[in-house]
Amino acid sequence: MKVNLLLNNQVMIAPFKSWQNRLFIPLWFLWSALLFFSSSLYAEVRSLPHAELDGHFIQGGLVIGKTRPGNRVYFDGQSVRVSPKGIFLIGFHRDEPPQISFKITSSEHKVLLDTDLNIKKRQYNIQRIDGLPPSKVTPAKPELLTRIKKEQQLARQARIRDDERSDFMVPFIWPAIGSVSGVYGSQRILNGKPKWPHYGVDIAVPTGTEVRAPAGGIVTLAHPDMFYSGGTLIVDHGHGLSSAFLHLSKLRVKTGDKVKQGDVIAESGATGRASGAHLDWRMNLFKRRIDPQLLVPPMAEVLAGTSEQGRIQNTQDE
Ligand SMILES: [Zn+2]
Repeated sequence: MKVNLLLNNQVMIAPFKSWQNRLFIPLWFLWSALLFFSSSLYAEVRSLPHAELDGHFIQGGLVIGKTRPGNRVYFDGQSVRVSPKGIFLIGFHRDEPPQISFKITSSEHKVLLDTDLNIKKRQYNIQRIDGLPPSKVTPAKPELLTRIKKEQQLARQARIRDDERSDFMVPFIWPAIGSVSGVYGSQRILNGKPKWPHYGVDIAVPTGTEVRAPAGGIVTLAHPDMFYSGGTLIVDHGHGLSSAFLHLSKLRVKTGDKVKQGDVIAESGATGRASGAHLDWRMNLFKRRIDPQLLVPPMAEVLAGTSEQGRIQNTQDE
């Protein structure tokens, strides 16, 4: 449909746009199947019996699937929401094992497909730093642990929502434009102690930079000051897919607000435990950490103004 969308790696989501206007109801299944085949140049398409899968079959990847409406989908032994149109989402964690079970049954529980999906392993940037003074390596003081635990619980709660909305069926846009200063999956090992991997993509932007919704959604968490992540927003895009924005200096929305793609939802900052001003954008499919960078065009193209995102951003700023 939209050939220009094929020029960047958002293609996995682009074809779904057309499904939103159900003009050709009797034909749409065939039509969308054709779009699937013709559109994926960068993300991978896997055509399985009773399911079409389109996305990144690698650790941190997100995959949009389509099956006959009414079918049931099980991923890694868990039931997955299937929309009335047969759309579903699956995704892979940073350290996802190379094979994950995937099953489809009819609405009457007849097994139509029972297989394993092969997931590619990724190499992450691991930094070992030794000889640091112990104070730099030890976790937060015990008196802070109650607060930290409570905040982690809030974030978990915001991410378990399984909403029937499908705001994710658009090409995602970057929430802010700037050079990428941190990537998904990287990890530091300080004095031999592995720290939490970095699950977001860091965009180097000064404090006060507008943060835009990368896709529509509902705000499920708007916290002005968390211990680690400072000003924090979580936006739910439907089917358990959510975006989080960390270290914000200002929140422009509140919990429960509905946002459209491109809406200004916050301002970036260096709040919480941040080494400097930047926007940290994370994505989850429920508990699984997804790499947001796989869903948007390369930042270099956006900065050069050669991608769709550059144009979206420019028109909005004028
Ligand atoms: Zn970060």
